[in-house]
Amino acid sequence: MPNPESPSPNPGVYRGRFAPSPTGPLHFGSLVAAVGSWLRARSQRGAWLVRMEDLDPQREVPGAARDILATLAAFGMVPDEPVVWQRRREQAHDAAFARLRERVFVCRCSRSDLDAHGGLHRGACVARLDPARAPAWRVRVDDRDIGFDDLLQGPYSQNLLRDVGDFVVRRVEGGYAYQFAVVVDDADAGITEVVRGSDLLDSTPRQIFLQQLLGLPTPRYLHLPLVLDRAGAKLSKSTRALPVDRNDPLPTLRTALDFLGLREAARTPASTPETLLAVAAASFELGAMRRKSDAFAALE
Ligand code: GLU
Repeated sequence: MPNPESPSPNPGVYRGRFAPSPTGPLHFGSLVAAVGSWLRARSQRGAWLVRMEDLDPQREVPGAARDILATLAAFGMVPDEPVVWQRRREQAHDAAFARLRERVFVCRCSRSDLDAHGGLHRGACVARLDPARAPAWRVRVDDRDIGFDDLLQGPYSQNLLRDVGDFVVRRVEGGYAYQFAVVVDDADAGITEVVRGSDLLDSTPRQIFLQQLLGLPTPRYLHLPLVLDRAGAKLSKSTRALPVDRNDPLPTLRTALDFLGLREAARTPASTPETLLAVAAASFELGAMRRKSDAFAALE
C-alpha cells in the first residue's frame, strides 16, 4: 500500500528500489540509502520497491529481514509492491545464467592464488586444479572501458580487464553472487533507477557489463555519499554500527534528511515520519545533495 500522505505513485514512469541484505538490523547508513531511494522515487511520482537480498545464508542473521521491514515501516516507508525475496528467484537466476554459458568458466583460484597476479583473474586460471576446493564460475571480461554518468557522482568508468578481472558470478556452495543476482532482479522488476550507497559505485561497471551480455536495459544510477563514523570508517552492518531506534523514528529521520542535504525539510514540524517524508519528497532536489565526499553524520 502506498503511504497515504505521499504523492500518488506513477509506476509506469519511474521504478526505484531499496535492496538490503539481512545481515543485521537497519543501521543509519542503510536508513540513508532507504530514505534516499524512497525520496527520489516519490519526487518522480514513481514506485518504490523493496528486495531482500538474502542470497548468502552464512551472512544472514535470523530475524534480520523481518526486523528491517518493520523498521522501514516505522520510518514511514512501505513498498508499493510485495517484497521480493531474492532467494526465491532461483529459476530466474538459472535461466539468466544459462544465457551466459559462452562467457563463464569454472575456476578454483583462491584469493591467495591470485595475490601473486595483482589480486585479479585475467583470462587464465593460476591455481593448480584442486578438486577439494569448491569451484566458482567466473565471467570472462573484456579489455574495454565501461562507463556511466552517475546522477550525483558524475562520470565513472572502469576497464574491467585492467581494474577488476574475471569476476565470480556463481559459487557452487554459495549460490549466485550479488553482482549477478542484482542485475537479473533489477531488470525483472523493471527498475529504471538504482539509488544506493557509493560503496557500490565500483560494482556498477560489472553490473552494466552483465546487463550488456544478457541484453538487459541499463538503469540510471545515483550513488549516495557514504555515512562515516567518527573514526572516518564506513558504517556497515558488519562493524559496530548501531541499529536505528524504530520506537522513536522522528529524530533519526531528521538526521537522515539533514545528511541528504534537505535541511529545511529536516526542521519542519511533523508528528509522524509519514508527514515528514511527504514534506521532504515535495522539496527533494538532487542539487542539494552532497557530491563525491563521504560525510560524517552526528548520530546522537
Ligand atoms: N544488498 C546490498 C547491500 O545491502 C545493496 C545492493 C544494491 O543496492 O544494489 O549492501
